[in-house]
Amino acid sequence: MSLSQVACSIAESPTLRLNEEARLLRERGEPVIHLGIGEPKNKAPITAILSSAAKLSSGDVKYTPTDGLPSLKKAIIRYTEDNYNRIVSPYNIIVSEGAKLSLFNILFTLCNPQDEVIVLAPYWVSYPEIVRMVGAIPVIVTPEDGGFVPSFEEIERAVGSYTKAIIVNSPNNPSGAVYPDELVAKLVELCESKGIYLICDDIYHKLVFDGRVPAPAYKFTDKDVENTKVIVVNGVAKLYGMTGFRIGWVVAPRRMVEVMTNVQSQTTTCVSPVMQAAAEGALTGMQSIVESLRLTIQNNRDVLMQELRTFTDVRCAKPGGTFYALPDFRAYVRKSVAKDSVALSDFLLKRALVVTVPGREFGMEGHLRLSYAGSVKDITEGIERMKWALDPNAPSEIYIGDRKLVRDWL
Ligand code: PMP
Repeated sequence: MSLSQVACSIAESPTLRLNEEARLLRERGEPVIHLGIGEPKNKAPITAILSSAAKLSSGDVKYTPTDGLPSLKKAIIRYTEDNYNRIVSPYNIIVSEGAKLSLFNILFTLCNPQDEVIVLAPYWVSYPEIVRMVGAIPVIVTPEDGGFVPSFEEIERAVGSYTKAIIVNSPNNPSGAVYPDELVAKLVELCESKGIYLICDDIYHKLVFDGRVPAPAYKFTDKDVENTKVIVVNGVAKLYGMTGFRIGWVVAPRRMVEVMTNVQSQTTTCVSPVMQAAAEGALTGMQSIVESLRLTIQNNRDVLMQELRTFTDVRCAKPGGTFYALPDFRAYVRKSVAKDSVALSDFLLKRALVVTVPGREFGMEGHLRLSYAGSVKDITEGIERMKWALDPNAPSEIYIGDRKLVRDWL
């Protein structure tokens, strides 16, 4: 079969593949614990449900403007003012089918073939693939100190004459790291002095723990939205537990939004008005829902850290935000059970029925990404099962569901 080389080179999303594997196992009645999933468990806010239900029951569900319903844009303008202290106009906003498509539209709009986009490791799995999809080249910067935040000097060294953009995702998926304000400030300065775009994927921006309030990149430029190189991506998926509603948006200079709108008009046309109404309901409703999710997740993070401390030879930097941690399992990758993080994740799914995501997918071999977006019970049981499977100091017998299992491989 003769298919496009670019399309064939694109990897399947490993997180979505693992979700599907977990779903199939559950369907067969297996007691799977999902520490791989990237979504909070809470239900969508009632204001989102009522607003989308009203739209649906009106029966008036038609095309909307390609760049989004004016009323949703109004809510996004308010959100931008409240959270970023920036006044933007409707011409600076485009709504898309999830932040993933927002990122695709940005990169498609910015990049010529062979342009380079700097991606900071550990990185969200989709960045390098989307960069490749638009014909550009991902340039990965990995922290030399083995940590989760590259230094400014490391990033600066990767900038060349083909660099079009740098993607920053803080709080970070998969590590939970929150980049220091000083680093973000220096990146804004670098980008503005060199004419490089700084794409800020802010999808987790309110899920930050321990009272920390990171400054948005906008704070470090006095240029207005038309002239700054800072582009902001956001959405309702993570903060409001609305992953299935598929709403993301971009705040960018007007000319860029115009071109992104033309691109979108030839692909998805617009986002369903039912889903846009839901997003508007979430953004204009009670915001305490986000704070209560943040507190729940912060507590889950503390439980996870406590459990991991009793895991021999596992090291984990304390996440400052998101609902992910990226513990270092290299001690177990080197031992007999698995040759790399992919094999280790596979081993844990088969033996212990725990879903994790291999660090290799995020540019951090030897680590596993664990999500603590689920329940405390999932976290404690999940780590207990992992200890049983890997840690010689853990008891060799365990109950998984109603089966008693005995470890005989260590
Ligand atoms: N950016 C990051 C860093 C993410 O983790 C995700 C979702 N996993 C997205 C963007 C995409 O969000 P959406 O579901 O709105 O497409």
